[in-house]
Amino acid sequence: MARYTGPVCRLCRREGQKLYLKGDKCYTDKCPVTRRNYAPGQHGQSRKKVTEYGLQLREKQKVRRFYGIQESQMRKYFDRADKMPGITGENLLKLLELRFDNVVYRLGFASSRAEARQLVRHGHFTINGNKVDIPSTILKVGDVIEVKDKSRSSSKFKELIEKHRGNTVRWLEASPEEYRGRIVAEPTREDIDIPIEEHLIVELYSK
Ligand code: SF4
Repeated sequence: MARYTGPVCRLCRREGQKLYLKGDKCYTDKCPVTRRNYAPGQHGQSRKKVTEYGLQLREKQKVRRFYGIQESQMRKYFDRADKMPGITGENLLKLLELRFDNVVYRLGFASSRAEARQLVRHGHFTINGNKVDIPSTILKVGDVIEVKDKSRSSSKFKELIEKHRGNTVRWLEASPEEYRGRIVAEPTREDIDIPIEEHLIVELYSK
């Protein structure tokens, strides 16, 4: 399935909550979810009865949109999570949090996950000193992420570092002035900051 390229705020309105897809705008009162919290389209304000399948589907779509991943990737993450010890739903979220693009965003080196994905693809980062340009790379505890030397002088990174919001999650250690971050622990369920009922996704994929 092709990547969605339409207006991203519609996706948040469809899910009825902020998915933080637009960077700075998401933190202002210009956010359309704040102003019009109903589904987009002609029938967006009419109430519909949601089936059990519908609930499961919406939850899965919400997570896909939050992390910006495609259906085929999502299925692969689920299969991998299912084989890991522990609770499948939590394993799935943990894998998604440990994606390279998500870590770059969480460290404050991008204003949205979409921007993080683009910056990674353009080769602006290293992992443990090696250039990596694959956003879906799954990182592990101890990995050090750095902005490449050549990229540090760009106005883009200077601006991002100036606006840096500081460390937002306890499993990462950010050193923005050194253009560096490190994974100090595995993310836990409590670290995921949007309300997700991951058991619905597990039920959907287990049919
Ligand atoms: Fe748009 Fe961000 Fe608000 Fe979502 S959270 S509706 S992407 S401004």
